[in-house]
Amino acid sequence: MSEDSNASVLEVRTYFVRGRNALVARADFEPLYIDYYLHRADHGLQYTNEQDAMLKDALAGLTLHLASRPQDENCGWTMNFQKPAINLFVTGNTRPGQIAGRVFTEDVRDMGANIFSAQTTRIGHTAQQSLVQVEGNQILPCVEQYYQQSEQRLARFFRNTEEDIVMISSQPDCDEAWLAALTEEDVRTIDQKETLSLLETRRYIWKCGCTVERLYPILAKLSPEALKEAFGDDEVMTVQCPRCGARYRAAKEQFEAWQAKAS
Ligand SMILES: [Zn+2]
Repeated sequence: MSEDSNASVLEVRTYFVRGRNALVARADFEPLYIDYYLHRADHGLQYTNEQDAMLKDALAGLTLHLASRPQDENCGWTMNFQKPAINLFVTGNTRPGQIAGRVFTEDVRDMGANIFSAQTTRIGHTAQQSLVQVEGNQILPCVEQYYQQSEQRLARFFRNTEEDIVMISSQPDCDEAWLAALTEEDVRTIDQKETLSLLETRRYIWKCGCTVERLYPILAKLSPEALKEAFGDDEVMTVQCPRCGARYRAAKEQFEAWQAKAS
């Protein structure tokens, strides 16, 4: 746990609402956001305030989703927006608890609509991909639409403060009328009005797990000519992680040694 020992740990608590059959997942995202900002500073990732707010909400939505799911699920969400034309990518898993993501602003495909695509993998299960069209570019409402269309159940997000976010999702035999009618004020006092039982506390950190070696397969897809050009005369190029945007200096010599070993 050497490099992770400095990571700020985000705790997500989940509760079961008795009699309503709903699952509450709640966290204060400040620790995750601190390390996300450090990561951006380390790698010179410049996002506009709007992109930043959208990515932070996507990170929060994914974390609360993962905390509400089986522990061995891995998840990646790609959201393609028309206005502004950006792609967001967030990914994470619970074992170990890691979350990362990034914004793409270049070469964003015009899909003619806002598209939310979810990929879920779980050991011993076939990978699942789900693609739905969503309205608007408010991230948490988009996640609610994804639940409605793809999971075909109700999930709602509420903000206690900017960084203290709650997701309540329906479970079998949920009192959906109650869940649909909940207001932010109701959620603030939910522990006084309802019987909540604590299920789990899960911990997550900001971490992608990428290294320059893990990005070599991306370089390996380039043609010899493109590689030659990218490495240039000084035989070093910058490669960017597609999952978190981290920038690495890849040296031609090391890459070729890796390629020789891999083939
Ligand atoms: Zn990465």
